[in-house]
Amino acid sequence: MEIGNIVKGHANEMLGLNKSLSETRLEICHKCPLFKNTVGGLCNPKLWVNPETDETSTEKKDGYFKGCGCRLKAKTTLNNAHCPAHKW
Ligand code: SF4
Repeated sequence: MEIGNIVKGHANEMLGLNKSLSETRLEICHKCPLFKNTVGGLCNPKLWVNPETDETSTEKKDGYFKGCGCRLKAKTTLNNAHCPAHKW
């Protein structure tokens, strides 16, 4: 994610902008095996997930997508952000 988007995501989070968009996305993240409950919720950059089966892998595989490492409370507020596994 580019710097401008990171700053915007944190600003949106603090100002409470796009709250309902963020909450809908966070509900999906909370059920995802890549969700890491650190620093308020992170997309685990050390794992890959298969969005069809929710199986994870510690290495790159066909049909699996790598976690982005983003802080999800901020990233989910951005209109133009997307889940690396295409879940939202
Ligand atoms: S952004 Fe996507 S891959 Fe990452 S925790 Fe959320 S749903 Fe899972």
